[in-house]
Amino acid sequence: MSVLRVTHLVKRFGGLVATDDVSLTVEAGEIHALIGPNGAGKSTLINQLCGELAPDGGRVELGGRDVTRASVPARVALGLGRTFQVTSLLEEATCRENIAMAVQARAGLNFRIWDRIAGRQGIWDQADATLAGTGLVARVDVRAQDLSHGERKQLELLVALARKPRVLLLDEPMAGLGHVESAQMIAQLRDIPLPMLLVEHDMAAVFALATRISVLVYGRIIASGSVEDIRENPEVRAAYLGA
Ligand code: ADP
Ligand code: MG
Repeated sequence: MSVLRVTHLVKRFGGLVATDDVSLTVEAGEIHALIGPNGAGKSTLINQLCGELAPDGGRVELGGRDVTRASVPARVALGLGRTFQVTSLLEEATCRENIAMAVQARAGLNFRIWDRIAGRQGIWDQADATLAGTGLVARVDVRAQDLSHGERKQLELLVALARKPRVLLLDEPMAGLGHVESAQMIAQLRDIPLPMLLVEHDMAAVFALATRISVLVYGRIIASGSVEDIRENPEVRAAYLGA
């Protein structure tokens, strides 16, 4: 059984078919990379998988359960974790607080009652355990708004992990990162023992991480295969790799 299965997914924006009959799976133990030019429909696809956008047709299954109409929180509860192309951190909160809020969100509490649970030691302990050994360990009390871009990307990943997901959807985790930060992010992703759907423009990162690659162009998957298959596919080279 696939961790995540999408079948015949369709999403239209007026006359534009942003997701055009997309089918794909994420299997246990794999990093399935989704590549494609700007405007291909990658974020639109991720948003439908998360439940933020309702598809016009098709089906989304998480661990064998049909979640096509399930809410965002229901999908999170079933183990779907994600990061965003543009980060979605709580800017005024520190690293530690951002993670603690994700930990307690997992417990089913609304973060608006955050102040009432702030004294619960277990949540802080879990937040500290999530931060331990990461590149943010010296930055735990720094507010999200004062972090560098690379640190924000790292924190966002840790926030997603704090919810203890079973599968991760990553929307451009390398976006805007320099060489050193990209290398750190690749190392960090390699250490996460979770199946992932990785949307990424940085082909070096994709080739370093992916166990399978699918190519999305104008809302359609035009090719899917191993790193070698995709590198050598003439259609992919023409449409995307610029060769
Ligand atoms: P990608 O993430 O691959 O760059 P997107 O999923 O963001 O692509 O966008 C796919 C297409 O859908 C683009 O043509 C974009 O302009 C369009 N689009 C995305 N979101 C909306 C929306 N909310 N309303 C109308 N058009 C949208
Ligand atoms: Mg996008």
